[in-house]
Formats: sequence, structure tokens, C-alpha cells
Amino acid sequence: MHVEPNDGEALCSWLARLGQRLGLRPVDTALQAFGIESRHRPEWWRRPSSAEVAILARRTGLATERIEAMTLTAWAHDRSDERHERFGARGFQSQRARSATVRPTPQCSACLSADETPFIRLEWMIGWVAVCRKHLTHLTANCPGCGAALNLPGLSLWRPVVIGRCTSTRCERQMDDSHAAPALAVVSDIQARLLRLKHDGAGPLPGIGWVTWATLVGLVDLVLSALWRSRARHPRERLFRRIVIDNGLDPEQRLQIDWPSNYGTLLVLAWLFAEWPGRMTEAMELVRAPSLPELVGFVGKVGGAPDGQLVKLLAGSVPDRPPIEVEWRRWLDSLPETADMLRERSWREFRQGASERLRALADLRAGMDVATVARRSKLRTTTVERWLETGMEYGLDALISEQMHLSVLDPDQRAVISDWLESVSRFSKGPNAWCAEHAQHEIAIRFGILLTPSAAHSLYRRSLPPR
Ligand SMILES: [Zn+2]
Ligand SMILES: [Zn+2]
Repeated sequence: MHVEPNDGEALCSWLARLGQRLGLRPVDTALQAFGIESRHRPEWWRRPSSAEVAILARRTGLATERIEAMTLTAWAHDRSDERHERFGARGFQSQRARSATVRPTPQCSACLSADETPFIRLEWMIGWVAVCRKHLTHLTANCPGCGAALNLPGLSLWRPVVIGRCTSTRCERQMDDSHAAPALAVVSDIQARLLRLKHDGAGPLPGIGWVTWATLVGLVDLVLSALWRSRARHPRERLFRRIVIDNGLDPEQRLQIDWPSNYGTLLVLAWLFAEWPGRMTEAMELVRAPSLPELVGFVGKVGGAPDGQLVKLLAGSVPDRPPIEVEWRRWLDSLPETADMLRERSWREFRQGASERLRALADLRAGMDVATVARRSKLRTTTVERWLETGMEYGLDALISEQMHLSVLDPDQRAVISDWLESVSRFSKGPNAWCAEHAQHEIAIRFGILLTPSAAHSLYRRSLPPR
């Protein structure tokens, strides 16, 4: 029995096709056909031993080079960069080197539906790859039919797999190209450059110069750690706006791009590298990043100490920022309202929330520190910090204006805002999501109505299609 490997096919895909022809489960295929045990090594195919390559070549009559071309043996890898969504916010935050029995594998539905026999490309198995270079589309991560994550089982799987179909046993929908979303050419270009760098282990990057793959992955981690700190959740929107505008897109596109994904990060990297190091400095200023040593420390904590070249590369391009307290102070000092004026306003204010905030702001404006203000008002420090960050980003009014409940909206207003929210794809779950407070302030900017966060959120829930 001979199964011919396709150009660019991953070894696991070829084994899965071979197993299918032989009527074997993935876990049995390599064992029965080649005597290679997969049960405890579901991802051995990525970097097989030379003995394993030799067996595969001998038993199939394929040249060693053709077997090796289906693996990542020749490719550099560092900081487990091949893991799923590794350049996304979540992949960065939960790095693990362990191999996976079943691994989410975004796929190009256009490629699959054009294949004579559908097969998985080696590139798709590199967990930060986001677009199909050939079709210039996003890889599809979820089945358009049932929404289940598409995945390719590791070689330890006990049930058979069919490539090109949804892996959910209740769905098994065939992939077609009708759902492929277009991707930006800059993302495809930077992805191609990074793939070459990963393949070669080191090489030139425009603007940056000669870097190793290890340095590059460290750099990605450093950028991610600055972007996805919880404290950057409002400031990072300014960076995203800037990137969207510099790419010649409609500013509203900021709300459509899935920034916490691989795709979002590749877009950020493309923008950074286009004018390095100036844009790195600008980006770090926009997101109010901590100092370089702090960022390096954080990157080290998540994925191990970064490569030595990285700090040299970044010296001077990550601005030394004053501590956040200094920025709060600057904002407070810039307010036209003095501490006395704020306090007086708090006395006249009959709304409990606004009065409380005004009182806290008056104390802060008078020079008291956050911890003391929080203690005196029996608030959590983080609450006061959030107020300050909202104030810095959206102004004093955003903090003390009356927040409207849903009941004050007339049906037309509700419909317009709901429609708008429905057109924004940035809401999601988890720590990196665009949250109700984002929606609240974006609605205020567009519609001039400051809703309570929960009102903003419930308008969004309303706009979800019924399940
Ligand atoms: Zn494709
Ligand atoms: Zn499905």
C-alpha cells in the first residue's frame, strides 16, 4: 500500500491518510505499519529520531528527504512556539511544552476543498500561523456548522479521523470555502517572513537586522506581555486604533479585528517592524508599558528567561516610564476642578455612586494616595485604580456622569445600539476580552449615552442570535 505525500503535507496528516486506507486508528497506524509507538508520544512526528525516519523511508520506499520535509526536524523552535494560538494573548499566558493528544488546528477550508484528497499542511501545525498564504484568508478555527474547534488528533488517538471534515462526531460537516474571511496582505507577509526565520533558525528582519528565532519569540512574548496586562485594557485600544489607521483601514475596523489572536499579534508585529524601533517606542508609550527590566522579568516568569540578544535589541526602544502613580497624579493635577470644588460637588450630589467617586477624587486631588483613599472609603484599591484609569482614558465626565439604566432607552435607541453592538465582534469571554466597560464607553462616544456597564452588556446579550 502506497500513499503519496503531498507538497507541504505534515507527517501526521500523511499517517492519518495511510491509517484511513488501512482501516486503522491513529494510535495503531505507526505501530502496525512501522513499529513506532505513539501512545505516549502523540506528537513524535514533529521531530522523529533518525532511526524512525529511516524505518519510514525503508518501508515506504520514499526518500529520507521527503519524509523529513513532512516534519519540523530542520526547523528551529523555542519557548514552545509551536503550541496552539501561541502568539495570541491566551497562548502566551498559558505556555506549556507538553505535547497534545488532540490539538486545535485552524485550517484553510479553500485549500481543503480544492484538494483531491484533503491533507493538513505542515505550516498549519505551527501554532501561531494565522492565514493561508495561497488564498489570503484567515485559517478557519471552528466548524462553520456546529462551532466546534477543528482539531487534528495526535497520533495517540483511539478513533479514526477524516481530514477535511469537522471532527465533532455529531457533525462531521465537510469543509467548504464559503466561510473563509479575507486576511490583510501585511499579515500574510509578516507570517511568511517569520516562517522563513523559524525554518532557518536565524536571519535578517527588515528594520531589526539579524536575529535568531529564539530572540524573535522572546520579542513576541515581550510585546504580548505589555499589551495584555490588565492595566493596558483601555490604553491598548489607542494602539489598535493607530495600527488600523496606519494600514489605511476604516478606524471602525479596530472593533472587528480579533486582537488577542495570532492574527492580531501578527498585525501588531507587521506594524512594529515597518518602522523599527520608532514604533516600538511609540507602542510601549501608547500602552503605558512598564520598564524593560520589568517586562523581561515578566516574560521570564511565563516562559523562561528570554534570549540574551533580546535585551540588547530593545535597549533604548522601550521608554523608561514613570510609575503609574505619577501618571495618575499628572491627570489629577490637569483637572480644572480643584480638590475643594470636587468635594463641594460631592456634597451636592444626590447620586450615591457619583458622590462617592467625587469624594475619592477630591481626596486624591488633594494629594492623598490611592491606598489611603480606598481604606477611608472602604473600597478596594483596585476599584479606585480602575476609576483613575477610566478617568485618564475617557475624562472626568465618564466617571461622574449619570449612568443610565436600560429602562431610560426608548425602543429605537435600544435597537440602534444593539445593532451596533452586534456589528462589533470584539466581545468575548476571559481575561483578554473586550468587556462591558469597553462597550459602555464606546457607546458613550458614539451615541452620547453613558449606560451602566451591565446595561451595555445586556444590550449585547440581547443582540446574540438565539441558540
Ligand atoms: Zn488556502
Ligand atoms: Zn461541525
